[in-house]
Amino acid sequence: MKVLVLNSGSSSIKFQLFDLPGERVLAAGLVEKIGEASGSISYRQNGTDGHEQSIQQAVYVVDHDQGLSAIVGLLMDPEHGVIASTAEVDAVGHRVVHGGDKFSKPTVIQEDMINELKRLSHLAPLHNPACMQGIAVAQQHFTSARQVAVFDTAFHQTMPEYAYRYAIPKYLHKEHGLRAYGFHGTSHGYVMKTAAHFLQLPPDQFNAITVHLGNGCSIAAIRNGQCVDTSMGLTPLAGLIMGTRSGDIDPSLLLFLGDHLDMSFTEIDQLLNKKSGLKALAGTNDLRAIIQKYDEGDPQARLAIAMYTYRIKKYIGAYAVALGRLDAIIFTAGVGENSALVREWVCRDMSVIGVALDEVKNQQVSGKLAELQRADSLVKVLVVPTNEELEIARQTFEVLQG
Ligand code: ADP
Repeated sequence: MKVLVLNSGSSSIKFQLFDLPGERVLAAGLVEKIGEASGSISYRQNGTDGHEQSIQQAVYVVDHDQGLSAIVGLLMDPEHGVIASTAEVDAVGHRVVHGGDKFSKPTVIQEDMINELKRLSHLAPLHNPACMQGIAVAQQHFTSARQVAVFDTAFHQTMPEYAYRYAIPKYLHKEHGLRAYGFHGTSHGYVMKTAAHFLQLPPDQFNAITVHLGNGCSIAAIRNGQCVDTSMGLTPLAGLIMGTRSGDIDPSLLLFLGDHLDMSFTEIDQLLNKKSGLKALAGTNDLRAIIQKYDEGDPQARLAIAMYTYRIKKYIGAYAVALGRLDAIIFTAGVGENSALVREWVCRDMSVIGVALDEVKNQQVSGKLAELQRADSLVKVLVVPTNEELEIARQTFEVLQG
């Protein structure tokens, strides 16, 4: 079965075409800066002989429809293509950011579901409209394919009410859906299952804390293979310090910004989502650049790393106690997979929860599946590279196989 995975953002479309169940990636790429003069398309085709071909084009892509047309053109290109017609694609798996509390598993897209997603758009105004655009254009281009939505929130739907509710009046939850949902669920679920398999433990007996550190950062507490708590909330702004997002702050700070500094809601939203986090602390959201500044002795870079890692440590402590028994801490995504320094600062002095990092192993590991704990550690410490596209393809395949 050929499954095209689409991750549609407000100005980009990421795609990968898989052949399942063998999980071979036939082609992959990215349309960027949709609607901007500096737009571009990158495309990689993987030949059966292991030979790769890559194309990079600077093009002005007006909208998502034109972006997907360009992707279809490349997939069917006589020289670089991997399919002869769109009818060869059996299914399209869409990453959908917010599924509210309606969607706890991958779902075949039908008209009533589109209406439900529209109703949920107020919960994710930055993300869901782009996902819906992706679905609409894919339905036009791949008329014979089944369309499946895979939700970022779904993995967290097993959280108990005492973990997902906010201590605010009940009608705000009941009538307006104000509660914690959590995000990055596809990644948390994928790395948990990969780690359980690697450690030869049944996922339904596996207790883990998964630490996803990319531009967006979140952490999840998993008991017996099911999420019981996570750091992101109603939106992806809560929890850990991120590239440009503040993570947890005292909500009164918003009142101060409005009342005393006369900032509008839009300005506050921009401040907390785009101008905070590592960018506010160290002048850039690129952790590699911050580590380089730290190596050169920059005190702001040092403070940024200290705050970033301290927040992660606090969440790990809380989740270890909430879980009661902890088998593994799993680091993933750009920072988690590649930064030995962040992993070391997070795991330093954690003997209280039985974690002992092997600093030499930790230094040696970048971007590959590996164990990092010392022999006397009671808890495994793992790096597991995430692969959200593969997980979406797998879930799409599974839902269609029934
Ligand atoms: P996204 O959330 O956009 O998918 P990624 O998972 O690619 O992001 O992570 C991006 C982050 O990973 C950036 O802050 C980048 O600096 C960081 N990163 C990538 N490689 C390294 C590295 N070797 N050391 C430290 N940070 C890294």
